Amino acid sequence: MAILTIENVSKQYENAENKAVDKCSLSIEEGTFISVEGMSGTGKSTLLMMAAGLLEPTEGKILYGGKDIYSMNDADLSKWRACTVGYLYQNVQFVQALTVRENMVLSRMLGNNPYVNIELLIKMLDLEKEADKLPSHLSGGQKRRAMLGCVMAREPKLILADEPTNDLDAFWAEKIMSYLKAYTEKGNAVVLVTHDKRWTSLATERYEINEGHVKPLL
Ligand code: ADP
Ligand code: MG
Repeated sequence: MAILTIENVSKQYENAENKAVDKCSLSIEEGTFISVEGMSGTGKSTLLMMAAGLLEPTEGKILYGGKDIYSMNDADLSKWRACTVGYLYQNVQFVQALTVRENMVLSRMLGNNPYVNIELLIKMLDLEKEADKLPSHLSGGQKRRAMLGCVMAREPKLILADEPTNDLDAFWAEKIMSYLKAYTEKGNAVVLVTHDKRWTSLATERYEINEGHVKPLL
């Protein structure tokens, strides 16, 4: 079953010459790991932001349960986002006044399952020493891991990962990718956008994006 259907979606930024994403269609099914590979500036982040409910397309629809997510009002769309998608940003964001553990607890409150074991997530991501620190006191790689913890604390059906291994050493990059893969094996879906070919062997479906055009890779 499709979790999210991207239907003929385009994005034309104001003052830009060309569309950042041009007529993209993609069905994101339960249990799939989708990779979208492309060089920098080809529209990867724009596509993910539209799928995440954060950027309205200029054309086309993003369907969830048959309904265009952008037909919802702001409050409903925010609620949908919190329960349905985990967006791993290129620029990591936290509530800066809260510790790493508190950020994860807050995330869990916004999500689907009040019983998610935060201490287990902290352990799995090797953040025991960082859990009581403020996000601003973490290294780039620790922030990335903490952000994944926040996303997983919500148990979203869909994780949208925008170059999630940036700032990570090889050990953690591999580990994070294996967590994402295992997450899809529980019936969730992951869309990974990346310029890094190392991870695409994990994908169950591969696409290429070039100047906003998405096409399947055979
Ligand atoms: P990628 O993630 O693949 O590097 P982006 O989706 O960030 O690509 O960008 C695709 C194109 O859209 C680029 O040409 C970029 O300069 C342009 N772009 C991105 N964000 C904006 C914006 N907010 N306003 C105008 N142009 C933008
Ligand atoms: Mg990008």
